[in-house]
Amino acid sequence: MELHYERKTAWEQMTAKELKELEACANDYMAFLDKSKTERESTTEIIRQAKENAFKSLEEVIKKGTFKKGDKIYLDYKGKSAVLMVVGEEFETGLDIVGSHIDVPRLDLKQVPLYEDGGLALLKTHYYGGVKKYQWANIPLALHGVIYKKDGEKVDVSIGEGEDEPVLYINDLLIHLSKDQLQKKMFEGITGEQLNVVIGSQKPANSSKDSKHPVKDNILKILNKKYGIIEEDFRVAELEVVPAGKARHVGLDSSMIAGHGHDDRVCAYASLRAILEVKNPKRTKVALFVDKEEVGSQGNTGMHGSFFENMLAELFNLVSKHPELSVRRAMANARVLSADVTAAFDPSFPDVFEKQNSAFAGCGLAIAKYTGSGGKGGCNDANAEFLQEVRATFDADKVVWQTGELGKVDAGGGGTIAYILANKGAEVVDCGVPVLSMHAPIELISKADLYMAYKGYLSFLK
Ligand code: MN
Ligand code: MN
Repeated sequence: MELHYERKTAWEQMTAKELKELEACANDYMAFLDKSKTERESTTEIIRQAKENAFKSLEEVIKKGTFKKGDKIYLDYKGKSAVLMVVGEEFETGLDIVGSHIDVPRLDLKQVPLYEDGGLALLKTHYYGGVKKYQWANIPLALHGVIYKKDGEKVDVSIGEGEDEPVLYINDLLIHLSKDQLQKKMFEGITGEQLNVVIGSQKPANSSKDSKHPVKDNILKILNKKYGIIEEDFRVAELEVVPAGKARHVGLDSSMIAGHGHDDRVCAYASLRAILEVKNPKRTKVALFVDKEEVGSQGNTGMHGSFFENMLAELFNLVSKHPELSVRRAMANARVLSADVTAAFDPSFPDVFEKQNSAFAGCGLAIAKYTGSGGKGGCNDANAEFLQEVRATFDADKVVWQTGELGKVDAGGGGTIAYILANKGAEVVDCGVPVLSMHAPIELISKADLYMAYKGYLSFLK
């Protein structure tokens, strides 16, 4: 009997067949990332794949007035959050949920964003979620989102992703004049109000002589020609600045992936791939894809919103005498993997990690019993009984997993959606992919951990 525990990599424990599957999984994930630069685009792609796999909308099910074991149901909530459900024989007494988030830290445009200064046309931004502001300067950027025209027509915007398409850019101060800037704290080196996005610089020869902002006028003309929009339409728009370009394989061994939004689209993708493979389960299986996690899960599309419970109530209304009570029972009896990423040990910054309890890239799916900060503050702290259930499931299916705590006890911390579902009575544990450079515009993960996340979520859902 092996008495001591030693963390091993997933790589050395995978079969040749698995290593081949891993590569296909990685490529498919990278295609998903490239199509899913915002929570809206992620929802669109998730729903597209759900429909392709015979999921029916909640509205259809309500209209039909009935559903049965094996039925696949989706909810597209305001185009920003999604629920995929495969109905089991038990409903009230058994929900198995994998919940991830599809919003990602980025720069949102302000409602009156466009201005001209120093011969440049620029866009004002307001960052969303936890970002290190200096990381967003000097990289190619794209603009994604929606604008409504005055007549109510919705315009989908995507600028900067095509191979030959121009990108946007945030400039930083040249080193030659940075004597003062370099003395500042990194936090203040570039401020929120300096995250202004360059969108043009040309003053056309035929510009109006009276105009005080000919470069801006020219950009408005281009936008009007391309999208039919006018400046005041920005006031009702939702536009997100994200890194331009595609996810890339990393390392000469091609063992990692660099991409925008691994937190938390890697877990969203892995759970999507898993639930699409679920057929005729005993307990009802659910994949949740929620918005607003990075800003506290508030709002109608966030986990604190009621959309999931409302969906359950609508379904119970078709099969239960007491739908409200049934929803409470279903939530209280639920088992949940809060599928969110955690920090991977970073050998260049070892001081903030406690090595023995850190997750390592390449060592598999990371279970975090608790998150929080300042002494587990704000966490739900999973019950040992549930941890044991998850361990038994994972071990039976040869899922390579590790435990992972987000850094040293006193170094900081973070949270996920776990506590929100735990507050309803569910058993919940955090369980996701370790990430390097978390919340940077481009983050880094190991393909082995992506694959083990998929395998782990499938093990839990099948
Ligand atoms: Mn995050
Ligand atoms: Mn996250």
